[in-house]
Amino acid sequence: MALEDAKTDVDGAITRKTHRGLSFENTFGGVTSFLRRSYTKDLTGVDLAVTGIPFDLAVTNRPGTRLGPRAIREASTLQAPDAPYGWGFNPVDEFDIVDYGDMAFDYAQIADFPAALTRHITGILNAGAASLTLGGDHYISFPILRAYAEKFGPLSLVQFDAHSDTWVDDDFDRIDHGTMFYKAVKAGLIDPARSVQIGIRTDNPDTMGVHIIDAREVHEMGTRAAVEKIKSVVGDHPTYVSFDIDALDPAFAPGTGTPVWGGLSSAQAAAMLRDLAGINMVGGDVVEVSPPFDTTGATAIAGAHVAVALMCLWCWNKRNR
Ligand code: MN
Ligand code: MN
Repeated sequence: MALEDAKTDVDGAITRKTHRGLSFENTFGGVTSFLRRSYTKDLTGVDLAVTGIPFDLAVTNRPGTRLGPRAIREASTLQAPDAPYGWGFNPVDEFDIVDYGDMAFDYAQIADFPAALTRHITGILNAGAASLTLGGDHYISFPILRAYAEKFGPLSLVQFDAHSDTWVDDDFDRIDHGTMFYKAVKAGLIDPARSVQIGIRTDNPDTMGVHIIDAREVHEMGTRAAVEKIKSVVGDHPTYVSFDIDALDPAFAPGTGTPVWGGLSSAQAAAMLRDLAGINMVGGDVVEVSPPFDTTGATAIAGAHVAVALMCLWCWNKRNR
């Protein structure tokens, strides 16, 4: 496709002939998919599957993230005509990246949800693809990590968040977006000594052994020093990157369930995600975008940018390994 095609091409999500290449259809119309990728349930030959988990039944405060995947997809269409800025390559020319759509689940059978999500992600991994997940509240990372740990063993976790989400909770049947990384450490899904949380600004004295770079440290040491520290913690270990949009300050991402002041700017997040290139990223997610509280759409836009950066990080790793 070329720019000229914008005059005639529409609905590329369901009509494009190849998974590769930019999209030039009108950003404001047509069938929506993440970054105008093919919207398909066929994972044949796919490198990276973007999937939505519209689940918000684990929140401690205000809800709405079930509408996150749709909002992020829509916000991403503005980025579809251009290669991602500042990366020096174009992932959609080099890799088969598709929008695998959302996961089906019964919203009234909440107890069945975790295992269904693990199966959903395992299906992607068994097809030879990696997953990039659009949330949904942050609980979804736990069933996803189960699938990844089965393939890779205990992972490094790089978590951008205002909250540690490692608050004590020994009842594994509870579905809570504030305790699942406590459980992930206890269950051996992540290796705390090789994991790091960035942007923290809520109190939790017991870090479970996870390294912390709190928001103030990022502000004071700068993003380059923060990235050096992250890289020294995770090394070359298989790494899952989870980005809770509330890592950003409410000024940049107001549309989220548990906003906390003093957070990262979108510029700091963009710089850190770019400079993390080279880590052994095997999968990731962006979570906690809540459109009902996102009056300007800024949070969905931030979420779409984070998702594109995670896509670039994964592709960078794949092409340089
Ligand atoms: Mn959070
Ligand atoms: Mn979180």
